[in-house]
Amino acid sequence: MTSKERKDATQHTVDLHRSATTPTDSGDFERASRGFVAHHPTGVILDPSGRAVVDVNRYDFLAGDEPAPATVHPSLWRHAQLNHHHGLFEVTDGIWQVRGYDLSNITFIRGDTGWLIVDPLTTEQTARDALALANAQLGERPVHAVIYTHSHTDHFGGVLGVVSQEDVDAGRCKIIAPEHFLAETVGENVIAGPAMARRALFQFGVLLPADPKGHVDCGLGNGLPLGAPGLIAPTHDITKTGETMTIDGIEVVFQLTPETEAPAEMNFYFPQFRALCMAENCSHTMHNLIPIRGALVRNALKWSKYIHEAMALFAEQTDILFTSHNWPQWGKEEVSAFLTNQRDLYKWMHDQAMRLANHGAVPTEISEQLSLPEEFLANDHTRGYYGDLVHNAKAVYQRYLSWYDGNPANLHKLPPVEAGARYVELAGGEEALFDRAQAAFDEGDYRWAVELLNHLIFANPDNDAARCLQADTMEQLGYQAESSTFRNAYLNAAQELRLGPPPNAGQPVRARGILSAMTVEQVLDAMSIRMQSEALGGITTLLGLRFSDVDEPWVIGVSNRTLFYRPDDAPSSADAIVSLSRTLLIEVMSGERRIEDVIRDGLITVEGEVQAVIETFAHLDTFISGFNVVEP
Ligand SMILES: [Zn+2]
Repeated sequence: MTSKERKDATQHTVDLHRSATTPTDSGDFERASRGFVAHHPTGVILDPSGRAVVDVNRYDFLAGDEPAPATVHPSLWRHAQLNHHHGLFEVTDGIWQVRGYDLSNITFIRGDTGWLIVDPLTTEQTARDALALANAQLGERPVHAVIYTHSHTDHFGGVLGVVSQEDVDAGRCKIIAPEHFLAETVGENVIAGPAMARRALFQFGVLLPADPKGHVDCGLGNGLPLGAPGLIAPTHDITKTGETMTIDGIEVVFQLTPETEAPAEMNFYFPQFRALCMAENCSHTMHNLIPIRGALVRNALKWSKYIHEAMALFAEQTDILFTSHNWPQWGKEEVSAFLTNQRDLYKWMHDQAMRLANHGAVPTEISEQLSLPEEFLANDHTRGYYGDLVHNAKAVYQRYLSWYDGNPANLHKLPPVEAGARYVELAGGEEALFDRAQAAFDEGDYRWAVELLNHLIFANPDNDAARCLQADTMEQLGYQAESSTFRNAYLNAAQELRLGPPPNAGQPVRARGILSAMTVEQVLDAMSIRMQSEALGGITTLLGLRFSDVDEPWVIGVSNRTLFYRPDDAPSSADAIVSLSRTLLIEVMSGERRIEDVIRDGLITVEGEVQAVIETFAHLDTFISGFNVVEP
């Protein structure tokens, strides 16, 4: 068993799928294709260099009604087939969506003279092609307003494909967003950016081939487009529920839903169309209370309560519900049932996880004891194609009780390499441990096999047989997963064990558009976690910063090997006053420029001790993008 080939499903996996249930079809295939107008001309969206940002044809194996292959959970296969419906669709006369060419949906609403767009996708190219498709089929209209439903990249990153900064500056287009949108767009992943980007490769599986043994879906859509996001700052913040705007003749009633699926998010209602947009607070999948890429844990209790509030505010007058991912719902009764199930799902996970926690169950036990009741299993949209109950139950526990399960045996555990070496020794050597893992694999006890082999690989990453068997084991776990994120993670792990991790690209350069939206505080927060403590012994500095493009002085310095800063005038005791632009600070923070070069080239002005400036900014660590995950 040393082959690095991808394998078929084992009999254990075949048997598991045979006993798996799929949701009763209550019309999802009809809804996913309802109102179809036209496909994108080719299904391939290119960037200016000719690289495919999206190629929906990669997923053509999902078209039609082929039964699930043995290598895909039948319920996930069905969901991926639903997500593969792509094109321009009429939601109702006056509202259209382009779906399937990005992870998210873009919605076009016809105003008196132009388009109101909800959520301009992830990349400029996908948004531009979606607008072109809508204009070609429905008549060319100018874009008069863009609404960002929330602060996640896949809902604003393509804005430059539908409107220019000049149009916004000239007042030709409004950009509307929930309050705190701008701070949260970067705030949620400033500190953890490099680690999150690496972990996201596992969640979304973007490096996997698209086929029945590889990538089939991301839960929210088939796949993620490749491309850097852009951003135009909102011109209008929504600050309270009940706030109403009339945009180009379209009335919109807003409901703020902070701390739900995103820290800044909102739902809204269109009285003329009797249509409700539930943003990403509702999807055709159980969502993540914490995504496996990592994030701050979300508030399931508030999430459920805001869905309930939306029902109270709008459900009685709603005939159509659409969302930022997946397909709409039509009919007042269907909409109410959908909202009720979504509301109850998040609260059920919250309540039952904490009920078991208060009985003393630890996260692994809670995940094992909870299983989704038949009421939720009956629906596509309350099953875990994106989130997974196993992970979400732990997220609830983490929110209230932390990662620590309360048992001091787990309070200060040995890290993986040290533990691995001792487990190998305990088992009687690498071969003995491998044999036990092989036996577990043969019995289909894949979760145990993975744990044993993980110890072996962290003790000796050069043990090729162990790597291959671990890859085969992860692969079966991936084939068995109903959640796309679990599948992607296992299959990406298998690929890395066989082929190695992706090449290091040095410091991942974050998209310009996002960087330019960072506040000074966010830039300094991001810089702080790069400070090389070991190089900072004996260094104490105090500087004043004056920005050419930010109307606020800052003080900054090093104390106890730690960076401190706050908006304030520099005291007379400061070592130096530094004049620079925020853009330049971002370039130094991100490692694009060295402080010594910036000073030498006269790009900043220093009044006072130059050495103090160098000492403050020179000891910055570099993060690599392809660090090891499944091996030491
Ligand atoms: Zn999204």
